[in-house]
Amino acid sequence: MQLILVNYDAHYEIEQLSRMFFRPLTLVKTDRRPRGVQEDFVYIRKTAGRFFVCLVKGGEKSSVFVPVRINENPDMDLCIAAYRLYEKSAGKGLPWGVLTGVRPVRLFRNLYKQSKVLQEVIDKFKNYYLVSDEKIKLCRDIFRLQRPVIQSRKPLDYSLYISIPFCPSRCSYCSFVSTSVKAAGRLMAPYTDRLCREIEYTAKKAAENGMKLKTVYIGGGTPTAVSADMLRRIMDTVHRCFDVNSLEEYTVEAGRPDCTDLEKLKIIKEYGARRVSINPQTFSDNVLKAIGRNHSHRDFLRCVDMARQVGFDSINMDLIAGLPEDTVEGFEKSLRGCIRLGAENITVHTLTLKRASNLVIKAEEHHYDDVEKMIAKNNILTQNGYQPYYMYRQKSTVKNLENVGFSLSGHESLYNIYIMEEVQSIISCGAGGVSKIVGGGNRIKRVYNYKYPTEYINDFPSIIKRKDEVFGLWQQFGYQKD
Ligand code: SF4
Repeated sequence: MQLILVNYDAHYEIEQLSRMFFRPLTLVKTDRRPRGVQEDFVYIRKTAGRFFVCLVKGGEKSSVFVPVRINENPDMDLCIAAYRLYEKSAGKGLPWGVLTGVRPVRLFRNLYKQSKVLQEVIDKFKNYYLVSDEKIKLCRDIFRLQRPVIQSRKPLDYSLYISIPFCPSRCSYCSFVSTSVKAAGRLMAPYTDRLCREIEYTAKKAAENGMKLKTVYIGGGTPTAVSADMLRRIMDTVHRCFDVNSLEEYTVEAGRPDCTDLEKLKIIKEYGARRVSINPQTFSDNVLKAIGRNHSHRDFLRCVDMARQVGFDSINMDLIAGLPEDTVEGFEKSLRGCIRLGAENITVHTLTLKRASNLVIKAEEHHYDDVEKMIAKNNILTQNGYQPYYMYRQKSTVKNLENVGFSLSGHESLYNIYIMEEVQSIISCGAGGVSKIVGGGNRIKRVYNYKYPTEYINDFPSIIKRKDEVFGLWQQFGYQKD
């Protein structure tokens, strides 16, 4: 399918929306009407007072004129008109309607801030953005649950993210910055060294600015991919530099059972983390093999058992809907398995096919028609006392679905809420880390660390410079010591 835009530059929304219906899609921007297009296409032309939208698919043609309304949102009007044509041609719409953004709950909250009437927000989601009743309910439930957390934030609060971008092997669907231990084992020691120095520098600058650390999240990659000594050194640095006892939350991703052992779990506990993530992704060994994981389901069970022995009473388990070789029944079994194990958090991701992942690079043929049915099984979680508490969407997610974190009451991860709703500043250390300074009036500024460990190790002075930029932004945003 081609998306041909004539005299129309603001193409992002319409391109995203069109990609949700038609894949693959090629974007063609031009200033004159193209001739002789053979394949299916969407043709959009902007003139002084209106858009012309025409869809030609399988020999069928449908079209519509959309007036450009001054002082309104003409780009959204165009998306709505195009959506109606696409929906008719496809025979069905999309659960999220015309919403292409990654943070629907944030939009919900911002609309509520303006109108103060919940029903008005619900009506706008339903009648303007064309969101399904089921997804509106999901947004509303999460919005309600997050409200007290968001309202209790204080201006000088911030969170710390520490990135350890190594993994025992690379999963076939992975698009994160993560290097396998085999390929990059020699980088781990110098990486640990630079990371500890960056943490120390961050702590010093944060203290100078009177900032108050609320949550720490050590993620990656898989932080437990480094040796026990390296993990101890990193966690000891955090412990020395910050008052971890006064934190609201401290999480370590112990994501993979093939590199998480009793010694590392004990270190995590000893240095003050109270929450760990141990991720089965699926309860099926066949599926684990298909995605390139080097561990079995039994290994995962052993790991959870060790974490409980060590004393962790807040464990998150990630599952992914849509993995190759998985079935709706298999997915349900995984969900029920996590519940049976008493996971305090269960995060259900929808498979995302990003270009960087081997699944896409290898262009394996998979059909994802069952993914919606898998996601529908999430109601088993609510029937068992779990509530959705945060959510986000990603581009290229199969079937345009979402990722949702569920929690038993009192176990909601505050860090996940802060980062996804962009309501608290996050200072990041390590390769691939992105620091985000959040100011009043929805102002957000980001500062990116180097993406890959090699650059991070080799140009450490630039990392310090970027940290100074982060704290400069903090001051520019008007935050002042108590
Ligand atoms: S464990 Fe996570 S970060 Fe590591 S390769 Fe797999 S998906 Fe990527």
